[in-house]
Amino acid sequence: MITIGILDLQGDVSEHFEITKRTLDKMGVEARVLKVKTATEVSECNGIIISGGESTVIGKLMKETGIMDVIVNQKIAVMGTCAGMVLLSKESDYEQPLLGLIDMKVKRNGFGRQKASFEDEIEIFGGKYRGVFIRAPYALKTGADVDVLAKLHGKIVAVAYEHHVATSFHPELTDDTTIHEYFIKEVLKCVE
Ligand code: GLN
Repeated sequence: MITIGILDLQGDVSEHFEITKRTLDKMGVEARVLKVKTATEVSECNGIIISGGESTVIGKLMKETGIMDVIVNQKIAVMGTCAGMVLLSKESDYEQPLLGLIDMKVKRNGFGRQKASFEDEIEIFGGKYRGVFIRAPYALKTGADVDVLAKLHGKIVAVAYEHHVATSFHPELTDDTTIHEYFIKEVLKCVE
């Protein structure tokens, strides 16, 4: 049975916990879903979800607790949403600790002040999807091997690389389980 950890250092952890459980039920996949706070707990997971929040704070705590090293060394699949997308990147427009698992440069708070929070329709995996954006980052550039999954007004808002997936928006704040389904399938591939 796979274990999916919701990183519980800061941010909207409960929402990810709920939608992950709901998605697993819908898919008929048996898995443990745990809120994780320590490097040991993270090391027991096959997939980790990093929620929205403050990427500088989450990154600092991930570094101090040794969680960053565990994720990178054990090659754990990561889904990062909003602040989590920033943390997955190799480079940010701000100096901060990063996992560096996806070759991309992100711009934090990339949609400007007046658009601090908004919803908009994007197209992802061939379907329409309503994205919730809150002080969202976007990718300024991505490496050749990175899959760009979605753009909004020409800005890259969702990417995938190996078993990792990053979104500018907050899939945990909608009822649409598309993104979580994608990630769970990736985690299952990792343990095959
Ligand atoms: N702007 C925040 C950051 O870069 C992310 C905001 C969010 O996760 N809602 O950390």
